[in-house]
Amino acid sequence: MTHQRPVFPIKLDSLSGSKPKAKPAVSPPRPVVKALPVRPLGQGNAHGNNQGLGMDSVAVRARMVQKLAQGGIQDTQVLQAMGAVERHRFVETALVNQAYEDTSLPIGLGQTISKPNVVARMIELLRNGATGKLGRVLEVGTGCGYQAAVLSYIATEVYSIERLKGLHEKARENLRTFRLHNVHLLFGDGMEGFAKGAPYAAIIAAAGGNNIPQPWLDQLAVGGRLVAPMVTPAGHQALVVVDKTVQGFRHQVLEAVHFVPLKSGIS
Ligand code: SAH
Repeated sequence: MTHQRPVFPIKLDSLSGSKPKAKPAVSPPRPVVKALPVRPLGQGNAHGNNQGLGMDSVAVRARMVQKLAQGGIQDTQVLQAMGAVERHRFVETALVNQAYEDTSLPIGLGQTISKPNVVARMIELLRNGATGKLGRVLEVGTGCGYQAAVLSYIATEVYSIERLKGLHEKARENLRTFRLHNVHLLFGDGMEGFAKGAPYAAIIAAAGGNNIPQPWLDQLAVGGRLVAPMVTPAGHQALVVVDKTVQGFRHQVLEAVHFVPLKSGIS
């Protein structure tokens, strides 16, 4: 690969004063929109997974949302999106009863769907208090497609890229009947980002490496925000938030997290 890969913490530290490379002043407007829809995604579809769920999933999700709020998630648009997306349709039938517990679950090929509170926390950070929807959002690590579905509620367009063909196809299958016209599933190496959709109002990664790949920084709009897990010098993963401003990049290292590794190439 020819592009530069910043290594933590040097690059991030050096980012603080550096000028972003992308075109200036392209921060996408964040229009105020009407209240988000509350119809659960997938409700009433004839082909979705785990149709015969033997529980009232609306009530179970409402409890999950209540717990998320008690746990500190305040952004009502995030809570609304978490309440709308039927997480049980994204997990194996045998795991359906755990779908609304605050736990990560296997989704095949050694990967996991993140805990609801981590999904909500990262999207809350991504929104950064915006009043309306975000513009274009890039998600690295589609996995089963759950987070892409949540993102579809808070962004005008979602580009979600997955490096494992099997999961890319599974996500396509999972999302098919939800008819989310603003979700674009891509198969490829997300470490390269997805230049065609750039610049992004926000970038979110569901897998963590030792650094933030340069293409992500390049493809972020000025005024945009990136949220990703990253391995710190102490050897544990933490959430990193990078803001791209006209003055340069600003970063924060937040709480410890446990994500699957960010890997290069496709498989
Ligand atoms: N957001 C997902 C979480 C999936 S786990 C969900 O809701 O289910 C993280 C995913 O990141 C895995 O599927 C893994 O294959 C993928 N991944 C890791 N490195 C990647 C890369 N370079 N490009 C794209 N996807 C990657």
